[in-house]
Amino acid sequence: MSTTQNIINPADLSVCATVEFLDVEEVDELIHRAHHSYPSWRAMTPHDRKQLLSAFASEVRAHSEELAEAEMRSAGHPIASARGEAIGVADVIEYFAGFPERHFGRQIPVAGGIDVTFREPLGVVGVIVPWNFPMLIASWGFAPALAAGNTVVLKPAEATPLSALILERLALDAGFPEGVFQVAPGRGDRAGWRLVTNELVKKVCFTGSTRVGKQIMAGCAEQMKRVTLELGGKSANIIFGDADVEAAAKAAPFAVFDNAGQDCCARSRLLVDRAIYDDFLPIFLEATASIVVGDPLDDRTQMGPLISAEQLARVQGYVAEAEVIYQVPNVPATGYYFAPTVLSGADTTAPSCREEIFGPVVSIVPFDTEAEALQIANDSIYGLSGSIWTRDLSRAFRVVRQLESGNLSVNSNSSVRYSTPFGGFKGSGIGRELGPDALDAFTELKNVFIAIEEEKG
Ligand code: NAD
Repeated sequence: MSTTQNIINPADLSVCATVEFLDVEEVDELIHRAHHSYPSWRAMTPHDRKQLLSAFASEVRAHSEELAEAEMRSAGHPIASARGEAIGVADVIEYFAGFPERHFGRQIPVAGGIDVTFREPLGVVGVIVPWNFPMLIASWGFAPALAAGNTVVLKPAEATPLSALILERLALDAGFPEGVFQVAPGRGDRAGWRLVTNELVKKVCFTGSTRVGKQIMAGCAEQMKRVTLELGGKSANIIFGDADVEAAAKAAPFAVFDNAGQDCCARSRLLVDRAIYDDFLPIFLEATASIVVGDPLDDRTQMGPLISAEQLARVQGYVAEAEVIYQVPNVPATGYYFAPTVLSGADTTAPSCREEIFGPVVSIVPFDTEAEALQIANDSIYGLSGSIWTRDLSRAFRVVRQLESGNLSVNSNSSVRYSTPFGGFKGSGIGRELGPDALDAFTELKNVFIAIEEEKG
């Protein structure tokens, strides 16, 4: 039986919406509908599927303010960031709209006939997403899944179902057939888990914590269900002695404090060459102090609240156990705000320096040699993201090749683009999203050999 759930605005703790949370039986109904819609969606000409995805992208663009406001109210994102995220969703859908006509098999030369491969869609795909970038991360899953000819049931996080429900409506307004793209708000262990256990779902595309990711993988294994996992991180930002210190120090706060640190790519370990440490620190702290923390409604706000009381308590717990070097003063007292905080990372075995905090907290770790920096950076169960700052091209290549991480940047904090692959090493996940190969993960590769008889006589 579905239940009504209040959605809380984390900036002022008001109820910003009420949403019907689906339980197992209702999720089964969505899955059945998706299953029945699959043959005709799959059979649609690539051109027609492209047109529908393009129309969906246009609807998202036209309603980007509505989407941004939903994200601002339920996830606490500053409105300026949320607007960028809404446009980002339209960009992702538009990018994948180009694929139905461009994703195909190959013809392979063999003896005695012709060998061809086909990329076949899977069927119903369950997309399960977290609350940190609700609509953007959802689009990384549903857009390539739909482009490949699958139907989708999207399970948003408990705290942030609003933008997903708007996207469901916009897809229908764009002309999507019923049942092709549906949203199942609900609890993870009920609605989410049903996407894992229902045999009509052929793949689960999960983004979230490593803990739940392991459960999803084990659940999918029961049915040999396909699974992609985008999980946690504890990424390093390595500042070498030969870097442009000012540029690196001014950029470093946004490598970790963006979205109040609730970012799987947050570079929450800041490794600084001891030779430049004393030059780097004051510039970095000044840049951190200038971050505007406040009301998400205000255009000038750069950092809003954390998502929940639970998340706030978790972040406070880590900081209470650590040595604080600096904390931004005067953040709002109402709402789930936590001040950007810089911790000493001198003890790299401390939980705050090893575990994913998912809040605006960075540990600063001095190092002496390139080898030591690499050893510290790789000493993690995670391997999602990371940056290095250096003017030495040889060092840049040497280090990026040795870092155990899926997404790296040199002299930049930016490593996520819809047109390039994204995903983790080690405990940060399995599989890749986005980029030119994203549809491979939403299709099976089929090989067919066709014998050709020798000409007779
Ligand atoms: P979470 O794992 O608690 O929940 C993620 C989603 O899974 C939610 O929709 C939740 O309802 C659902 N869920 C929970 N238990 C489930 C179950 N037993 N079966 C099926 N679904 C279930 O994660 P969170 O707290 O929402 O998000 C924070 C985590 O997400 C962090 O660890 C962060 O690093 C990670 N994350 C990773 C990426 C990436 O791309 N690698 C991106 C964003 C966030």
